[in-house]
Amino acid sequence: MKSNPEESFRDSISTVDADGKRAWVYPKKPSGKYFTRRKIVSYLLLTALFAAPFIKVNGNQFLLFNVIDRKFNVFGFPFWPQDFYLVVISMIIGVVFVSLFTVAFGRIFCGWICPQTIFMEMVFRRIEYWIDGDRGAQMRLDRQEWNAEKIRKRVLKWFVFFIISFLIANIFLSYIQGSDKVLRMAKEGPFEHIGTFIALLIFTGVFYFVFAWFREQVCIIACPYGRMQSVLLDDKSVVVAYDHVRGEGEKGRAKFRKNQNRAEEGYGDCIDCKQCVNVCPTGIDIRNGTQLECVNCTACIDECNHIMSSVNLPEGLIRFASETEITENKKFKFTSRMKGYTAVLGILTTLLIGMLFLRSDVEAKILRLPGQLFEHKGENISNVFTYSITNKTVKDFENVTFKLIKPDGEIILVGNDEVFVPKEEMVKGTMFIEINKYLLEGDKTKLEIEVYNGDELIDKTTTNFLGPRTFN
Ligand code: SF4
Ligand code: SF4
Repeated sequence: MKSNPEESFRDSISTVDADGKRAWVYPKKPSGKYFTRRKIVSYLLLTALFAAPFIKVNGNQFLLFNVIDRKFNVFGFPFWPQDFYLVVISMIIGVVFVSLFTVAFGRIFCGWICPQTIFMEMVFRRIEYWIDGDRGAQMRLDRQEWNAEKIRKRVLKWFVFFIISFLIANIFLSYIQGSDKVLRMAKEGPFEHIGTFIALLIFTGVFYFVFAWFREQVCIIACPYGRMQSVLLDDKSVVVAYDHVRGEGEKGRAKFRKNQNRAEEGYGDCIDCKQCVNVCPTGIDIRNGTQLECVNCTACIDECNHIMSSVNLPEGLIRFASETEITENKKFKFTSRMKGYTAVLGILTTLLIGMLFLRSDVEAKILRLPGQLFEHKGENISNVFTYSITNKTVKDFENVTFKLIKPDGEIILVGNDEVFVPKEEMVKGTMFIEINKYLLEGDKTKLEIEVYNGDELIDKTTTNFLGPRTFN
């Protein structure tokens, strides 16, 4: 089927040429008020990203995602595999939050908050401008022979890229294995921690590949979030948009001519300078309409504003606007879909905060040993149980004991009378519970047990005790 020629840009992606080869994007160096704001946001986020693994709250790393040892800290709160439901709820909240934002403001998360864009545009790309120069100089350098200048620039750029990738890999590893371990490796040398060092080199290689070569392809091809746009966006979503009504006029866009009255002649305000295309880091032409490659970075807004000022036309030909605003001159409206998302987000956040406060630092579980019934010991009935105590705090529990609160009876631990539970560890063991048969409620009695560390009550739990149906 033949596609509409006006929509033919949708048949291909900007970074692949007609032969299926990579079309390298050389974006022009951005500047302007949005870029200044983006720089501030990006450097604040980068500072937070680099600092978070080294901040401790009550001895816990501020953010830790140690999947190997299954230890997770979020804002200094330790999470264990038992708390996984909280992680799931947090992730659902994250997805709803990002969806709500996308419905209302398009892919703004990608251009302003996503670490991929921040590292690419605010770190690696800026180094590239510093070494290779702006768009024109980069294109010339790429085309030219391998002479001394090209070798010097390429070696310097690749070396700096490698060092930064290595630094990012260290930070990434600090989130996964903990900053203490990474700092220990730095102090004691890589050969004492060969496994961690190999992981570090692998991550360095991945980051180098992504930022030196793969680049915007992550946003265009690999990231699933970009694909969701077509489902989430509607004509009321505020996105980076070209005002086609103003830009095209009655006769369409036309090159700028001095002393020409464009409005009278029926031409739109777009002077077809293509600077918005040249500055785009994903290589698209925003004048074709909303496209999934657009990461809402706002570089084209700044660039078009510069052009509009230089030809004495009002700024805002490309701006944050919805399709409805452009075609019907309607202002931003909080739609019922957005209200629905906000309500769901509010409920989930309240639920998460409630669960965080109800969650205890200690978790004791006592379960009957599978396959075991009960034993008569004179007037008493005995059951055998297994217990587990999870200490989520950063201090050791020196002497943990159990106390049977209801009904009266005795708890006998196998091994020692007291249990030692190291910080951030789980200890398991076996115990017998003996209860006078006349105190039992029937064949199944609910027990209430308190768990102490010394004199301090650290948890309460319940379990079921089996006994005979009748006492003869
Ligand atoms: S920068 Fe503005 S004027 Fe130039 S082509 Fe893009 S939209 Fe048209
Ligand atoms: S079209 Fe504009 S906002 Fe979208 S990615 Fe390109 S420069 Fe950024």
